[in-house]
Amino acid sequence: MEVLTPDICVIGAGSGGLSVAAAAAAFGVPVVLIERDKMGGDCLNTGCVPSKALLAAGKRAETIRNAALFGIKAQRLAVDFREVHAHVHGVIDAIAPNDSKARFTGLGVRVIEGTARFKDDRTVVVDDDEFEIRARRFVIATGSTAALPPILGLAETPHLTNETVFDLRILPKHLIVIGAGPIGLEMAQAFRRLGSDVTVLEAAQPLAKDDPECAQIVLNQLEREGVVVRAGVRIASVAKMRTRLIVMLAAADDDAHTETIEGSHLLVAAGRRPVVEGLDLDKARVKVERRGIVVDTGLRTTNKRVYAIGDVAGGLQFTHVANAHAGIVIRNALFRLPAKMRSDAIPWVTYTEPELAHVGLTEAEARQRHKQVRILRWPYHENDRAQAERETHGHIKVVATRRGRILGATIVGAGAGELISIWTLAIGQGLKIRAMTEFVMPYPTLAEIGKRAAISYYTPSLTSPFVRRIISFLRRFG
Ligand SMILES: Cc1cc2nc3c(=O)[nH]c(=O)nc-3n(C[C@H](O)[C@H](O)[C@H](O)COP(=O)(O)OP(=O)(O)OC[C@H]3O[C@@H](n4cnc5c(N)ncnc54)[C@H](O)[C@@H]3O)c2cc1C
Repeated sequence: MEVLTPDICVIGAGSGGLSVAAAAAAFGVPVVLIERDKMGGDCLNTGCVPSKALLAAGKRAETIRNAALFGIKAQRLAVDFREVHAHVHGVIDAIAPNDSKARFTGLGVRVIEGTARFKDDRTVVVDDDEFEIRARRFVIATGSTAALPPILGLAETPHLTNETVFDLRILPKHLIVIGAGPIGLEMAQAFRRLGSDVTVLEAAQPLAKDDPECAQIVLNQLEREGVVVRAGVRIASVAKMRTRLIVMLAAADDDAHTETIEGSHLLVAAGRRPVVEGLDLDKARVKVERRGIVVDTGLRTTNKRVYAIGDVAGGLQFTHVANAHAGIVIRNALFRLPAKMRSDAIPWVTYTEPELAHVGLTEAEARQRHKQVRILRWPYHENDRAQAERETHGHIKVVATRRGRILGATIVGAGAGELISIWTLAIGQGLKIRAMTEFVMPYPTLAEIGKRAAISYYTPSLTSPFVRRIISFLRRFG
């Protein structure tokens, strides 16, 4: 057994763990990083990267379908799904060196391949006690995995999750997706555009965490493209019959009344659960709940030597959140600064077309917290660039206080994921609407919709009798 005594021991080399390890090594701090599977974790191998690459392939197919609108005649569209698979994995391979063991070793990180577990509240061991690590601080960054909803027959029926869907080399004929959250709907649109029939089944509301009015614009587009989204359905059971997958839907109030949906493949995208099994967290006195490891605002667990970051900490589950968590831990653990995680300016994006991006409070949340709010909007169809690109579906919706403090923004439309950044900055810096009107933007850009929405804050004052009186008074002076 090799005994190691670094300052920091990180468990999990995904988005969060890699960021902590890289930053600690950059400051010359001894750090051990333990990974039991692929370096890069979910985001690189089975999450953000392959899903965006698959969406990009679907987008190309859709561009060809719609090319006639621009006067371009394309030959008959053909999707070679094996080549699509090669493209997706080519993108992963292109990024993988950034997250590799070789790169991190070169940065000065001691990378150990194996499964970590706590031996006691100060010690982690790897595999069969091959390594014993007694670090000053531990960081648990073990991520999350697809949660399987309690549906009769699901465990025994072949189904895909994000861990297997990107390995498909044959295009599903009819993909049934359980779950209409961001992951489910991104996959639904990608596969539909590549040629699958797609049915999405959702027990509650699709894109439930987003502004319903903006989410509806995404759902309308999916419907136009032929994705069938069934909301508020109850799945009674699933089963496999020869080559077909059978999903039985039950009426909400009547078990006897059922409907059958048949598909070729089943994808489960119905939420995530934290990866904590086998870590022996009880031995480390680290408390865990259903959502994830219990942490304070500085991301410390119930054991003050141990932090938990990223998906396993049970908050917003995004790569940029895991990265932000890493920054907090570095400030806390290395510089002993009382850094805390702010959650009011964390953006999120669903990368369907149109994209759906949000930061801050939704209209409903703002109305609960503030007596009066102003809702500012601007539609894409009033934007010259959007017209030129024929990207006219969607709008920006900004929520502000009556005095102009920006509380939240939702953008649904082309490039929304890019356009939300400036609103994230505005909310993070506590800017007022006025700041969003007082700079010159390049024309023609989609980002102008944000400025136009901000300017509309002042529309009521254009007709204000007081303002008009001032103008007519000033006119007397020539
Ligand atoms: C399909 C899909 C699409 C997504 N798209 C986006 C997106 O577009 N944008 C975005 O921001 N987020 C997206 N996400 C979410 C994003 O992938 C996660 O939020 C992010 O990967 C979380 O990082 P993490 O470091 O917490 O965990 P992970 O990246 O999952 O890393 C955890 C690592 O810990 C390792 N591990 C676990 N247990 C042990 C152990 N006992 N010993 C050693 N190693 C262990 C695992 O093998 C894994 O490599 C997506 C997720 C999915 C599933």
